[in-house]
Amino acid sequence: MSDGPAARFVIGPDSRPAFTRYARLHEDRARGRTVALAPERAYELDSIGVIVLSAIDGRISVRDLCAKLAQQYAAPVEVIARDVTALLQGLADKRLLRDGPDPFKRPALSDFARSITPYEGGPAGLLAELTHRCPLQCPYCSNPLELERANTELTAQEWGETFRQAAATGALQLHLSGGEPTTRRDLEDILAYAVEAGLYTNLITSAVLLTKERLARLAEIGLDHVQVSIQDIVPDNADRISAYDGGVAKKYDVARWTREFGLGLTINAPMHRQNIAHLPQIIDFAVAVDAQRIEIAHIQYYAWAQLNRAALIPTRETFLETVDVVEEAKKRLLGVLNFDFVIHDHYASRPKTCTGGWGKSIIAVTPSGKALPCHAAQTLPGLVFDNVRDRHLGEIWRDGAAFNAYRGTGWMKEPCHSCDRREIDYGGCRCQAFALSGDPAATDPACHLSPDHARFAAFAETESQAPAPAFVYRRYGGAATD
Ligand code: SF4
Ligand code: SF4
Repeated sequence: MSDGPAARFVIGPDSRPAFTRYARLHEDRARGRTVALAPERAYELDSIGVIVLSAIDGRISVRDLCAKLAQQYAAPVEVIARDVTALLQGLADKRLLRDGPDPFKRPALSDFARSITPYEGGPAGLLAELTHRCPLQCPYCSNPLELERANTELTAQEWGETFRQAAATGALQLHLSGGEPTTRRDLEDILAYAVEAGLYTNLITSAVLLTKERLARLAEIGLDHVQVSIQDIVPDNADRISAYDGGVAKKYDVARWTREFGLGLTINAPMHRQNIAHLPQIIDFAVAVDAQRIEIAHIQYYAWAQLNRAALIPTRETFLETVDVVEEAKKRLLGVLNFDFVIHDHYASRPKTCTGGWGKSIIAVTPSGKALPCHAAQTLPGLVFDNVRDRHLGEIWRDGAAFNAYRGTGWMKEPCHSCDRREIDYGGCRCQAFALSGDPAATDPACHLSPDHARFAAFAETESQAPAPAFVYRRYGGAATD
């Protein structure tokens, strides 16, 4: 049971580190390496790291472990102790280790997961949009304007087959998302298929529909990590943004239950002008519920967020304040709370490496089975998406027209074509490039080298200074104002 906010686990000679329930070593056979699997991450380890982390069990002390390794490898114990402590402290600060064995156990890897020979070069992650149904109506939702209906959704069995194919193409992480994935009455069956496939499971939820009993069942089946999204921490404002009453209290409950069951917990806080002033309280909330991670992401403006851009875009000054808040909190909360901070594109000078590069690391599948290189890829013109009902996921990944449209660097125009960062950021976000310039192969306007960059920054300044218009809420059937 969680005892509330954590203190930093400082590794010393008497520490007896062990992986938490939500972190583990994993042989990544598709890439010929061993990784530490953690919430929405896979940390690559060198051979020493694997030896050390294979030995920790919550019983052996760091002192005894170092003595054993010094003898085994005929190396000075002080040198071993320094390296072992640094490795363990790094993982402890990510909140992946605890002192003593974790009383919570997750199911062992299935025979199926042990037997597959994954396809080399496949995606590392699968984003499974189980449904577009959601009781909330966030005006920045990244789901498409044309939401898919319940009667088109893949069945649990079809998701199961998709998960097996994903694992066989090298996927490690599965993001069970939506819409609101807990609206699926068969979520338990879907999760069981994912666990059987050997995937690390992340439930991305607004939390408002979860009960303690259901979360306990999901934990028992083998769920690893819960990401609770919050609209704001001030209840009235959260209700207004989401068009749903009473969400904040529910998020407190679900966050606490998540920790009570020994699962990993991330708080996800999309940032915009209507909640930005409450960022310090949102960070306090994450600490109070003992989250290990917080994602503070300035939203990107496509789909519903594009419709609502003038109501959501913050001023440059308020954006810069969030940078200061996060920098201060990172230092203060070392080893307690880890930060993923996504800066605001309009006030950036370089683009993000969107989805880790097109067709390079993730595959998204919509509720009806369309396989996308990025969850917003349907905003782009001229792409044809294969369906997992018709074609093997590995084949779609390798040969699908949409996956090859912007893969690599061959499609690039200037200035990306000759830029020395082209294999670092892959030209940024295709959807953002198209939304502003009308050309999906253009340079992301977040880049200072883009001919559209000045215009991109200028309209943000103008819109953010003007009074915010009413929201267009995310609903089936399209736009409606409050
Ligand atoms: S962003 Fe809001 S409306 Fe969209 S799926 Fe998440 S909780 Fe639902
Ligand atoms: S020009 Fe293209 S490749 Fe170079 S930094 Fe900008 S977006 Fe990245």
